[in-house]
Amino acid sequence: MAYDLSFAKDVYNKSEMGHWIKMCMQCGVCAGSCPLRAHWQHSPRQLFQMVRAGKRDEVLKSSDMWMCTSCYNCIVRCPRELPITHIIHGLARYAETEKAVDPMQPTRRFAVEVFWKNITATGRVGEAMLTMRLYFQDGIGAGIQRGLEMRDSALGMLKTRRLNPIPFRGKIKGYDGFTKMLAKAAELEAKLENKA
Ligand code: SF4
Ligand code: SF4
Repeated sequence: MAYDLSFAKDVYNKSEMGHWIKMCMQCGVCAGSCPLRAHWQHSPRQLFQMVRAGKRDEVLKSSDMWMCTSCYNCIVRCPRELPITHIIHGLARYAETEKAVDPMQPTRRFAVEVFWKNITATGRVGEAMLTMRLYFQDGIGAGIQRGLEMRDSALGMLKTRRLNPIPFRGKIKGYDGFTKMLAKAAELEAKLENKA
């Protein structure tokens, strides 16, 4: 196991909300509060300790950060009021910028290859197209199989009007403002990533 003593400093400076990790007192409340803990290899508490210990590869290659569903349980319970959810997402983003993530990591693939393209094309999530792209991202055969597996859920969502089967056409009102906002966010992100 390699220890990189510059890793903690990099996370504090370059990863969104990463500097908050310094405040963690390792009480474990976040680990006990996370409904997905059983599916994580390391809890938020452990990840924060690994950052401080300089375990760069182990943290950045971890799938744990990609498992967070933003339920905010941990945030409301942390006695030190760490913005844990945002720190976790920041670590995932940092791992992506460092090109440490397995390109086939399912959440990463969904975020980068499906969700981002879907929302930036029109300014809103088009549920029908999003689902199609997700199901067919590994080819026609895999897409049909996934569709068949999920047909009961899909029918239920259609019946209760939770899924609009008609693809959204055109662009939202104020699409130009939306793209300017994205450009500004990208500029701020680049500044953060280039911070020494
Ligand atoms: S609950 Fe807060 S202080 Fe406790 S281990 Fe988790 S992040 Fe650290
Ligand atoms: S916000 Fe993420 S890390 Fe926090 S409890 Fe929910 S799933 Fe777990």
